[in-house]
Amino acid sequence: MTADCIFCKIVKGEIPSTRILETDEVYSFLDINPINPGHLLVIPKKHFNTIFEIPDSILAELMPCVKRLSKAVYRAVSAEGINIVQNNYRAAGQLIDHAHFHVIPRFSNDGFLTSWPGKTASPEDLNRVKEKILNLLEK
Ligand code: 5GP
Ligand code: ZN
Repeated sequence: MTADCIFCKIVKGEIPSTRILETDEVYSFLDINPINPGHLLVIPKKHFNTIFEIPDSILAELMPCVKRLSKAVYRAVSAEGINIVQNNYRAAGQLIDHAHFHVIPRFSNDGFLTSWPGKTASPEDLNRVKEKILNLLEK
């Protein structure tokens, strides 16, 4: 499982990376194929496949890193915006099965998506899905 994980190898130094920040539980490095210059990744050092498996205690260390790094990237490349993107499972675009957060600097003329086309939903549709979610919401 984790033996073949590229990001585990990056954390261990077995694959080179452009390290930006490291804490006890968190590692951040530049994405090798940046969407825009400054695009970086923030990962838990331990292997978790998706956000579902990351313990809250680690997320509590990781999210402030995402925020700090976002501010630094924003200023470093004079960005006009920042996307924080976190893909889980193939259907959502996850290619590397070691949970990670993208910090992506954005520019108004960079040609990438700024909003997703939403579907229409009736109040009944919204209430139906709301009930399903609330029934499954973990304490
Ligand atoms: P995902 O689609 O899984 O959310 O994103 C994976 C990201 O990891 C991609 O943006 C890809 O460019 C990046 N990536 C894949 N392999 C490597 C690597 O070996 N080194 C670095 N720095 N980034 C990688
Ligand atoms: Zn891993």
